[in-house]
Amino acid sequence: MDFEWNAEQRRLFDEIEAWARCAFTRDLVEADRAGTFDRSGWETMGQRGLPGLPVPSELGGAGCDALTMVGALERLGYACPDNGLLFSLHAHLWTVVTPLLAVGTEAQKRKYLPALSSGRWIGGNAMTEPEAGSDAFALRTTARREGDEYILNGHKSFVSNAPIADVLTVYATVDAAKGPAGVTVFLVETKTAGVSVRLVDKMGLRTSPTGEVSFSECRVPTNARLGDEGAGSFVFMRSMTWERGCILASAVGAMRRLFERSVRFARNRKQYGQPIGKFQQVAARLVAMKERLETSRLLLYRTAWLLAQNRPAYLDAALTKKHISEAWVQCCEDALQIHGGQGYRVECGLERELRDALGSRLYSGTNEVQCNLIASLLGL
Ligand SMILES: Cc1cc2nc3c(=O)[nH]c(=O)nc-3n(C[C@H](O)[C@H](O)[C@H](O)COP(=O)(O)OP(=O)(O)OC[C@H]3O[C@@H](n4cnc5c(N)ncnc54)[C@H](O)[C@@H]3O)c2cc1C
Repeated sequence: MDFEWNAEQRRLFDEIEAWARCAFTRDLVEADRAGTFDRSGWETMGQRGLPGLPVPSELGGAGCDALTMVGALERLGYACPDNGLLFSLHAHLWTVVTPLLAVGTEAQKRKYLPALSSGRWIGGNAMTEPEAGSDAFALRTTARREGDEYILNGHKSFVSNAPIADVLTVYATVDAAKGPAGVTVFLVETKTAGVSVRLVDKMGLRTSPTGEVSFSECRVPTNARLGDEGAGSFVFMRSMTWERGCILASAVGAMRRLFERSVRFARNRKQYGQPIGKFQQVAARLVAMKERLETSRLLLYRTAWLLAQNRPAYLDAALTKKHISEAWVQCCEDALQIHGGQGYRVECGLERELRDALGSRLYSGTNEVQCNLIASLLGL
């Protein structure tokens, strides 16, 4: 494993940081309160090629390997404090763009990937249902075949990007009696008749719109099927490996931002006649923040390296997701504590960072589910 960035990668990351510092300066306290998505920020990300990072250049993407992608997304998270906007980008990348690249037909790739890469179109993923959360394959949404169409019926309860998305990957069963072997994925455009979206209000990541999505006699052509009939569990597990391995790349950048901010604060804030960083309890908290940042980064890079080599990464991705999400939450709590009462004020932004980070223990499979999965892969 060699994680030394080459000159081209360093130039890309430096460019992303310099651009993002200027591009994402809106008032996040207000945007968070109102829950507004930064559409123009998304479009500028599109001009930079970020929504199409893994997509080959002939389909309009940046053609990056997994390690370069996580490096770029980490730097983006360092320079852009809008965690919600970046979460939307990650949802789009790992649940729509990468599955399309992996199992899409040539026609599907040509139809969707240029628009998804340029930022003109936004993607989202509809798996979770009211009665099927952690036990995702217990889903009840059905896909009934009639001639050259499938007819979808069902309800999805938590779909990131749904209110702004143009296309969703929708998981439905063609035969509930088959269990996971009946699950099939469809590319459904949100403008299709029979699709309705209702905005979901939530605690954090408020600048990333979430929706409930209902399908009522929603007709899609058979060529909207992503992968074979019954291949949904394979598509989902593959997509989850990428998602769990890479979705917290920007969180590592956010942790670096919060760590550096906390060090600056601990050097400047004086109590009892000296900088608070001179107090062992404050210093120890900063050392622990640094440790968690470095271990998170190493896990992120190692899993991305495995993905780039096309090597099995299921266990590593689960470890990466679980470790970084816990580290991110702890990092926000530490930063807030170091800032004292100031940290508790909304205008300081740290309470928002904490609310944003808490979601990471839940999405992509809760950390309890990651723990079960890791234990079962250890033969327990
Ligand atoms: C910010 C955010 C974005 C999301 N985006 C999407 C999206 O884009 N698309 C999508 O389809 N879904 C999305 N989700 C939904 C997410 O995947 C589910 O919330 C998650 O899988 C858990 O399901 P649940 O909420 O129904 O909880 P439940 O499965 O009901 O779990 C409730 C609690 O029980 C625990 N639990 C459940 N089973 C076990 C077990 N076997 N062992 C130990 N503990 C267990 C869980 O860990 C949790 O603490 C998102 C969620 C969040 C918070």
